[in-house]
Amino acid sequence: MADDDTSTALPQTCVRCGQVALIRIVGRCGDCIGTLGLEQGADYAEWRAEVKAEFGAK
Ligand SMILES: [Zn+2]
Repeated sequence: MADDDTSTALPQTCVRCGQVALIRIVGRCGDCIGTLGLEQGADYAEWRAEVKAEFGAK
């Protein structure tokens, strides 16, 4: 995770829209996650893959 320089910074900024957000999952804020889920596009698939890599499959 050497290239991940956003995860420990305060305040936490969404890597997608750049807004400061209290709720983030692997860099995306809640608003972006909702948008990605609705779009079901390539960005959503990428985010899902990052979530899986971060937290593992259950
Ligand atoms: Zn966002």
